[in-house]
Amino acid sequence: SAMLGGCRLALPAALGPALRGRAAGSGRRAVSTSWCPVGSAFDAKKQQQQLRGSTAGRETGLFGVPELSCPEGFQEAQDKALQESERLVQKACSTPPGPETVMIFDQLSDSLCRVADLADFVKVAHPDFAFREAAEEACRNIGTVVEKLNTDVELCQSLRRLLADEVVMSSLDPETRRVAELFMFDFEISGIHLDEEKRKKAVDLNVRILDLCNEFLIGTHLPNKIDKHVLPEHIRYNFTAEGNYLQVAGLHADCPDDLVREAAYKIFLHSNTQQLKRLEELLASRNSLAQLVGYDTFAHRALQGTMAKNPETVRQFLEKLSDRLSKRTQKDFEMMTRMKMKLNPQNSTLMPWDHPYYSGVLRVERYNIDPGLYCPFFSLGACMEGLNSLFSRLLGISLYAEQTKSGEIWSEDVRKLAVVHETEGLLGYIYCDFFQRPDKPHQDCHFTVRGGRLRENGEYQLPVVVLMLSLPHSASGAPTLLSPGMMENLFHEMGHAMHSMLGRTRYQHVTGTRCPTDFAEVPSILMEYFANDYRVVNQFARHYKTGQPLPKNMVSRLCESKKVCAAADMQLQVFYAVLDQIYHGKHPLKKSTTEILKETQEKVYGLPYVPNTAWQLRFSHLVGYGAKYYSYLMSRAVASMVWKQCFAQNPFDRAMGERYRREMLAHGGGKEPILMVQGMLQKSPSVEDFVDALVSDLDHDFETFIMDS
Ligand SMILES: [Zn+2]
Repeated sequence: SAMLGGCRLALPAALGPALRGRAAGSGRRAVSTSWCPVGSAFDAKKQQQQLRGSTAGRETGLFGVPELSCPEGFQEAQDKALQESERLVQKACSTPPGPETVMIFDQLSDSLCRVADLADFVKVAHPDFAFREAAEEACRNIGTVVEKLNTDVELCQSLRRLLADEVVMSSLDPETRRVAELFMFDFEISGIHLDEEKRKKAVDLNVRILDLCNEFLIGTHLPNKIDKHVLPEHIRYNFTAEGNYLQVAGLHADCPDDLVREAAYKIFLHSNTQQLKRLEELLASRNSLAQLVGYDTFAHRALQGTMAKNPETVRQFLEKLSDRLSKRTQKDFEMMTRMKMKLNPQNSTLMPWDHPYYSGVLRVERYNIDPGLYCPFFSLGACMEGLNSLFSRLLGISLYAEQTKSGEIWSEDVRKLAVVHETEGLLGYIYCDFFQRPDKPHQDCHFTVRGGRLRENGEYQLPVVVLMLSLPHSASGAPTLLSPGMMENLFHEMGHAMHSMLGRTRYQHVTGTRCPTDFAEVPSILMEYFANDYRVVNQFARHYKTGQPLPKNMVSRLCESKKVCAAADMQLQVFYAVLDQIYHGKHPLKKSTTEILKETQEKVYGLPYVPNTAWQLRFSHLVGYGAKYYSYLMSRAVASMVWKQCFAQNPFDRAMGERYRREMLAHGGGKEPILMVQGMLQKSPSVEDFVDALVSDLDHDFETFIMDS
């Protein structure tokens, strides 16, 4: 259960193209007169009828982009974008170095992505295959153009002239300077600043790395086959049979039978020579590329511009955290061992396949958290009203359901929210694609469809995002009821959305969530702290039939249950993060990736390595989060500090809300992340402070403890 599994931000590829996919939209700022209260838009059937694809407006396309009323429109939108980009490339090359250079680069990026980002969403989520296919095609075509631009020497020169001009650079405001550097940073990886021979090498390495990433990623999901006679007959039914073979497609981590989990672990994680070669070549190639463009290691390059800044800080953070966790982890493992002894006296040594299962058993035993008891208090409409009232008290912001035009949305159950500030007016739009449907990925995710930016005419281009959840449809007549976990996920994703809505950056290159990876989860995890606070929950959690509020002790028990074995869970994340750092650190690696895994597992995690297994070959996050797997832990540490220092006293403190908006959300990725943290906390936190915040969250709440004893 990787922490990162829950939420996916559309991440920039670690070694991706310079002008990454960007936002789209026609930008018509039509303020609807038919705004409805947000809660009823999600709960009441009558309102749903009203909001459903009405004929009120004239026919439009997806997200209000006129061309996208049919799949063929993607071609048209793409051609327009490419024409526009050609014009902008010429303009960039003929403009003398100055702030305008950065503006043109941002426009160029915006023009390509007014199609690519939108298509990125449509290709995974549209129910109509023809739309998905057309979107995929548009993504590919724009990707090809972007690759060409990345190696366009003349275009790069125009940016280099600016960066080399100290007088002009020092006259730029910090945001513009940072964005110029970010564009250059993206260019560098294609080796554009190197001589002919090295540049060719860089291009070849980039191509090879992309292939290896894809191959490795596919390999992480492939099932392993095994002769069925190897397994005792009574457990074979747990796996898919294929003639004389059994397919093992996962770890079966929640299966109560120890033997099934053991078999699944040993077979699914069995070492595979081909996949091993891919991984080792991928790591070596990333290292070569990073060194070619001037960095010591791949990690040094990946951490440039992040909150941690360099591998040394990450190493310290993880080492200190591991030290502070080790005693607690030991206790957690002892608890799990005792439980295993009780349930399976013959074989009670705690093994890696036991950790998720027995921590779950302990959680249920300690705190009987039956989601069914909580669901009736968390109707989707109530939760949305809760978010609305929280944002309104903290930030002066309201959410309204807006009627959509015919053709604007891709599924009838999608809701469009207008985000409106009490004095500043409309800030942007959130499309809520919350419900399951066939062919829709089971993934909670925030997509930026259009980034905010200051247009040439002085108008602000409003941000547009999609929040994708995978909620079950309700039984007829009843509202959709959320489990506590789903409620927390909703708050988490809304944290990303508010980051997008409140980022008021001049450039869309750094809009909202387009910020360093180790800062990106701060606003979303902070929302989880709100979701777990009784004062906040009590504002909205009402039984959908009786109107009764959720009892306080049920909220406390829920919070306490999350702390059961939480040290061991965090220790496991530290182990993964350390492994990721070593793999992307100094090359050649001193040992094979499997030997490094074994050594690190025993040192940082504590449960024994199992011979002939190679967990790292299933570590898919190595692709997207290369050298940045620690990010989630670090974001959580910052969110925890912000919560404790600024909101724990009063989660509705408007002055703190305003400070949060001003110091953290408003800048998107346009400001160095540690400066945003300093602005918020009004002090400069040390690595020890980060670690303290994470560890103190594991302490049991004394009051609840007494109550339950
Ligand atoms: Zn997230």
